[in-house]
Amino acid sequence: MEIQILGSGSITPTSKRSYSSIIVKTISENILMDIGPATLYKLCRSGYKINELNHLLITHFHIDHVADYLPLIHSKAFDPKSGKIQPKKILTVYGPQGLLEFTQDLLENVKPWNKVTETLQCSGYLNLYEVLSGKFKEEKEWIGSTTPVHHADGIAYRIDSEEKSVTYSGDTIPDENLVKLAKETDLLIHECSFPNEELLIGLHTTASKLGKIAAETGCKRLVLTHLYPICETKIDEIVRRISKDYDGDITVAEDYMRLII
Ligand SMILES: [Zn+2]
Ligand SMILES: [Zn+2]
Repeated sequence: MEIQILGSGSITPTSKRSYSSIIVKTISENILMDIGPATLYKLCRSGYKINELNHLLITHFHIDHVADYLPLIHSKAFDPKSGKIQPKKILTVYGPQGLLEFTQDLLENVKPWNKVTETLQCSGYLNLYEVLSGKFKEEKEWIGSTTPVHHADGIAYRIDSEEKSVTYSGDTIPDENLVKLAKETDLLIHECSFPNEELLIGLHTTASKLGKIAAETGCKRLVLTHLYPICETKIDEIVRRISKDYDGDITVAEDYMRLII
């Protein structure tokens, strides 16, 4: 399984880190997790074909995780070479409760955009599933599981494929459900928004707490993502703090970083 971090930053982009998005490449599928601003551009730069992307997993509806959702729906309608409207492949989207209403709002309730949506007949090639807990997809090629986490009614995801697994927290405070979902996972990609509790803003996780979480899951490797700009001068401190409680491999995500498990 190959995983590429497309964006390792937060709501505040920097020259080093942009918005949340991760692509997981299994033997048969490319599965996108979150789709923050500029995700489509970053996918193209990384060699992926937008019109061949058929699975999207959304953790929650904050703009840094979903802003390229409508651009994905629209762009799937076009042939990337000729720019002509093409026969559409189904786009299957999983997300937390509210996915159907959110999608309908985007497709129908924004005036300058809804005419395009109508012309492209977007709802004809969308399969939407609101998921909350447990396995939501079980096929030979990959198994998808989810659990609710404490952040804007969001959810986390785990993908199992080829006897390997990757778990992605989305945005969350330290969460027992996430620990259960990520048990013995090969790769845990967990948000690490702030270095410590003194600098914490909002419902996020700090380096002070993340080591214990990783240790409890028993994950083989931990990847830190969703770093706010304040983290940039404190990377060494962050890794040192986490390694006090967790003795597995710790990687600080970077945009475009590829990981093989
Ligand atoms: Zn976020
Ligand atoms: Zn958020």
